[in-house]
Amino acid sequence: MISKGGSEALLMALLSVARSSSPNDSVLLPLLHLLAKVGHRDRKIGLKAEKMEAALPVLDLLRQNVKHARRAAACLWVLQVFCYSVSTATLLGKNRGLDIIFKLISPHTTKQTRTVNFATVIEFSCAPMDDLSSGLNSRLAASRGYVSGLLKLYEDWHQKDTENTAVPIRRALLHCLHHITGNRAGRAALVADRGMELLYHTTQSCLSNQSLASLVEPTVQLMRRCHPKCPVPVRSGHSVYSYPLPGWPVLAGDISEDDSDDDPRSDEPTCTELDEDLETDLNKLCVKPEPDRGMEQLDQYVSLCPELRHDFQDLDSGTEEESSDEEGNLKSQDQPGEGLPEHLRGRGLHSSYLSKSEAKKDVCGMVERLLEKHGAFVPNHDPHVYTAAASCTKSVPGFSVLAFPDFWGHRAPSCRERMAERKPNVQRGKVLEDIRRYLHPEDLINKVVFDLEDPRSITYIANDWAGVLLEVTGDVGAIWVLLFQTHLQMLQRSLDPRKVFFQQQNLCNTLAGNPCPLVTITACPPSRRWNDLQQLRNRPYVVLTARVHPGESNASWVMKGSLEFLCSEEPAAQALREVYIFKIIPMLNPDGVINGSHRCSLNGQDLNRQWMKPELSLSPTIFHAKGLLYYLNSIGRTPLVFCDYHGHSRKKNVFLYGCSVKETLWQSGSAIDTATLKEDPGYRTISKTLDRIAPAFSLNSCNYLVERSRESTARVVVWREMGVLRSYTMESTYNGCDQGIYKGLQTGTRELEEMGLKFCQSLLPLRRNSILHSRKLISQPSLLYDLYNGLQDHQSHNSFEDDEPPCVEEIEYLNASCTEHMADTLDAEVNANGLGSDEDEELRRPERKSRLIPCFMHRASLDTLSQKRGSRQATDISGQLFG
Ligand SMILES: [Zn+2]
Repeated sequence: MISKGGSEALLMALLSVARSSSPNDSVLLPLLHLLAKVGHRDRKIGLKAEKMEAALPVLDLLRQNVKHARRAAACLWVLQVFCYSVSTATLLGKNRGLDIIFKLISPHTTKQTRTVNFATVIEFSCAPMDDLSSGLNSRLAASRGYVSGLLKLYEDWHQKDTENTAVPIRRALLHCLHHITGNRAGRAALVADRGMELLYHTTQSCLSNQSLASLVEPTVQLMRRCHPKCPVPVRSGHSVYSYPLPGWPVLAGDISEDDSDDDPRSDEPTCTELDEDLETDLNKLCVKPEPDRGMEQLDQYVSLCPELRHDFQDLDSGTEEESSDEEGNLKSQDQPGEGLPEHLRGRGLHSSYLSKSEAKKDVCGMVERLLEKHGAFVPNHDPHVYTAAASCTKSVPGFSVLAFPDFWGHRAPSCRERMAERKPNVQRGKVLEDIRRYLHPEDLINKVVFDLEDPRSITYIANDWAGVLLEVTGDVGAIWVLLFQTHLQMLQRSLDPRKVFFQQQNLCNTLAGNPCPLVTITACPPSRRWNDLQQLRNRPYVVLTARVHPGESNASWVMKGSLEFLCSEEPAAQALREVYIFKIIPMLNPDGVINGSHRCSLNGQDLNRQWMKPELSLSPTIFHAKGLLYYLNSIGRTPLVFCDYHGHSRKKNVFLYGCSVKETLWQSGSAIDTATLKEDPGYRTISKTLDRIAPAFSLNSCNYLVERSRESTARVVVWREMGVLRSYTMESTYNGCDQGIYKGLQTGTRELEEMGLKFCQSLLPLRRNSILHSRKLISQPSLLYDLYNGLQDHQSHNSFEDDEPPCVEEIEYLNASCTEHMADTLDAEVNANGLGSDEDEELRRPERKSRLIPCFMHRASLDTLSQKRGSRQATDISGQLFG
């Protein structure tokens, strides 16, 4: 109906009815109801109403019918769907829409004869205040004193509704307040009108009464939002550690007052927000942008593809590979990013200590003693190599203590741990404590626990069960860099250089002067014959990166799994090396990891938002990673797959984000006819394979939307600029799994490493034909079995057809579940308004599920909904805003 112009037709009919002097109920009411129902499913209804100038006539209709309950309710529903468009909501506000609507809200009464459904009226009165981008209506509401009015009403209902029969009405009042306090004036008004006291005291009685439980959450949220901000008692907002950036003045100064917090939706993003974030510009989605640098700059990357020129002399002579240096150390001659001024080099970690020969002897002796005492062996780890790597790492703060387990290496615990049960209402308790301190400041115990301005007051000390190796202050992130450097060196040592081509090079130096390794892995050719060398040089590339976000250490475990698998003797790993060249950057942000950043590098920026125009001086690793991809692109060797490993702090399981033009346009409700667009559905193959073979992987959590806020991430840039169809972000959970055979269990290092292995395995089916044509590979029966049987099936929870849909149009796209959910509830309300004939209808039972549950209460129900649907193309709309 919507696609055939139904909304427009209804609007036209409504306009003509509204213009008549005495509208007939038998036409007007059904028309309004129908418009509300249809409009709720039409994303563009607000714009259409605006274009046809229908909003103000409906507001007039409401104005004339404030005493006529059913007409008033029907008008409100229609106005509410019109408010999907911000400009319509603003228009209504400017025409005193709020005044009319607030007239409908009355104090507590036992008769409730004024409107059909009082709660509905109040809730719907919030709709015009949803104009978040302009905020006009909520500011108007605050300035006209509605806050004080609403608080009085809330108190009135709280005191007089002793039977607790009107909980939805009370909740609706809170919902109104929630909207008005989206701006600073509203919050100030609530505090000035003693709203905090009222909310705090009413909450106390709600806490003890089960039937009022649904009021606690909204009041706590309101109080948290309105609690006046107190400045942190520090002189400066800057870290005690500072790092001079090339070309930037040294920063100094006080904390700037941050007043830009007028974002009413600080808590959770909603579906509308996501829709607005989706890229709908077809040019941006489909047209390859101009490269950010001249092609002549790409010559420097020739040296980073040694596999294309290597002559494999050693295949004949059987000697050690010439180009890998004996210690497996990074080579420094191939450093595109070299040449930073000396003062920008970071301080050497331990270097002053370790450079003293006495100290060196001490350390060696201690390592030996520890080895003797604890005598365990951790695969691909060596404490000696670790200590050596430590001596060349450069960090901003100095390090003085080293934890034994890190020095020693890690082994996954033998048993699997269950995810901890989340205790209910922990946050609520904290907020209430906070409010109590705010209301009774005399109860505060003013005591300094630690001093942020004194770097010595926070010290990390090694576990004392293990013994102390070196004196280190600062952060455990450095350990990670060392672990991974050790790991790479150990891996290389374990390989047969005649079989596996494994090269570690330096992509570039970081800001602090640390190396950023690039690893190349492929199979050596069976001989130096032209055919064999040519086969190697024609293998498609797979580019894997990780740890652009330093806090996401789980990405490094996934990377470890991938690296170890690719270097292994497994038939599938051999096959992968035969059919691909892997280019791996295991740590895109070593400086961030070393210095303990969570998301940033030394320049204080999120490196995964720099891919569009990376600056050589500030984000060298991204500049050169992109340069390498440009180079591959320029020689006609665009990677078949690109994947950036990340960790996700909120969502469970492991999943992929990819890029699809059609899905993005479809999801954004774009008017562009997606049926005419051709898109290769191959971007889904890897997720489908992973869903079958990787127990931690969840297909339902994957999505392929291109968001504006993500346009400078690796995934989107590599897809758009390099034309890599299979360009992904792989998110691995910080916590655990809620599906599959790991359901309810924590995701430990074992599971993460397994995920890295499975990701590599999922690349095999993409090259099925080449493998079947290889005489060498076809002689591996287990590999063939895997290929034909979709690798080992772990009894996936999903069932779907094995093959890609034959044509793209057959991909089934699901609507965002929340729209559907809201529409269903609205239908119920509208239908009920059409029933019965009594003007003074009794208030319907309050336990009825309210349509407009505040957005912060919606989340749980949405989550369950999308899980329950469990349909294979379901996109979880909440996920991609994090990570
Ligand atoms: Zn991340």
